[in-house]
Amino acid sequence: MYITQQEVEKFIKLVSSYETIIIHRHQRPDPDALGSQLGLKHLLSKAFPQKRVLAAGSKSRGLEWLGAMDKVSKEDYAQALVIICDTANEERIDGKYYSLGQKIIKIDHHPLVEDFGDLQIIYPQASSTSEIIGQLAQAKSELLPMDAQIARLLYAGIVGDTGRFMFRSTSADTFKIAAWLSQYDFDRYDINNQFQLLSYQQAKFEGYFFDHLQINDSGVAWLSIPIALRQQYGLTEEDTNLFVNLPSRIRDVQTWVIFVEQDTQPSYWRCRIRSKGSSINQIASLHEGGGHPLASGANVYSEEEKMILIQELSQVSLADSKA
Ligand code: AMP
Repeated sequence: MYITQQEVEKFIKLVSSYETIIIHRHQRPDPDALGSQLGLKHLLSKAFPQKRVLAAGSKSRGLEWLGAMDKVSKEDYAQALVIICDTANEERIDGKYYSLGQKIIKIDHHPLVEDFGDLQIIYPQASSTSEIIGQLAQAKSELLPMDAQIARLLYAGIVGDTGRFMFRSTSADTFKIAAWLSQYDFDRYDINNQFQLLSYQQAKFEGYFFDHLQINDSGVAWLSIPIALRQQYGLTEEDTNLFVNLPSRIRDVQTWVIFVEQDTQPSYWRCRIRSKGSSINQIASLHEGGGHPLASGANVYSEEEKMILIQELSQVSLADSKA
């Protein structure tokens, strides 16, 4: 266990001092952002039934099976403790009133890029923020009782951020927490399946994906998904999550980027960057992005900038293959 007793005690002390607790997570939530946020919400609601524990943020299409957000007003923050899950920098927090809270706790597994919050519980070696919250709950189980609903949410977050226990971030600690959560009565098969089930149209898009994926001699692969293409296959922006790890299955591919056109004026391309070994988050930070060494995001604004990003990825990919 990496979480320290001191951190657990500080966390409990802060949580115990507030009657309203508002939990945030990052924009464009993935299953770990939602699983950690909603898992923590239910964990605290169960432990402290007299408190108001709210989940703040916008609705996310495609992940409704994890649960819904609460209605949170500006006034709710006046006397509140705010907890931010799975978010490295303030700019990416979903919900604009978080700074109105009395105190902020940050719980995250991204590399530290920005200090914020009165208490920071940050473990970049953790597979997911849900894993950290699992450790927190386990370390204080007499006060924070686990149940099937909470276990399901945290397990979903772990499965999401580890690619069903496939990614390198999966550690002995990950398995320990996943095994502990698995004792509770929720449908693990159903959760695991949520990450692989496709509609027929999505399965057809998988064909398009491999057909049009480009790969260069440095082992960098890329694919652009313009809005019109997405619409042709009936895909939402969030659905691109279903395909982002497909290139990992190609032996020659070392790093890859999926460019997803955004429906804004003027439009830009959200970049979903992944790597099998070379660290790519520094490159992402050159293009309004960041993230983990092997999984990052960024934004680019033109075809030229796409090519620049591919060149940058090629350089690290090539340098690492020679090292
Ligand atoms: P995604 O491709 O959106 O799943 O993102 C992969 C990882 O990169 C996640 O941990 C995100 O939190 C992080 N990330 C994505 N976009 C950005 C961004 N624009 N700035 C900082 N981090 C990002």
